[in-house]
Amino acid sequence: MTDVQYPIFGTCQCGGVRYQLLSPPIKVMACHCKECQKLSTSAFSLTALVSADSVVFEGELKQWERLAESGNKNYAKFCPICGNRIYHFNPDQPAVIKLKAANLSDTRILQPEAHIWVSQKQDWFHIPDGVPQYDKQP
Ligand SMILES: [Zn+2]
Ligand SMILES: [Zn+2]
Repeated sequence: MTDVQYPIFGTCQCGGVRYQLLSPPIKVMACHCKECQKLSTSAFSLTALVSADSVVFEGELKQWERLAESGNKNYAKFCPICGNRIYHFNPDQPAVIKLKAANLSDTRILQPEAHIWVSQKQDWFHIPDGVPQYDKQP
């Protein structure tokens, strides 16, 4: 993917939230947990782990908070108008955020390097050969 140009711009469905991703993600993962199925209204969600200082956000974001099974805090940021989920983060580890990057303008970077929570995966979805998979959160 040498022709991917940074920054990559992202926007929620209504355009109220806009952001720029300045540099490549640390890692891209597909999460098959039930929470991500609800969140994505699909079989899994795509998450790009990025360093917090590599994203610039514009527009109002609202926050929703829950505890992950691990006991870690999982805070979610979303657009208050269209409800599009923008990113998740743990306030105890603020240097890294989990960008819900399907709303980037160039989604070629979103090739999962790992599949997690495979224990809750939809039966019909087959993980490509050679991609690491984990029953839960690794
Ligand atoms: Zn919106
Ligand atoms: Zn998940």
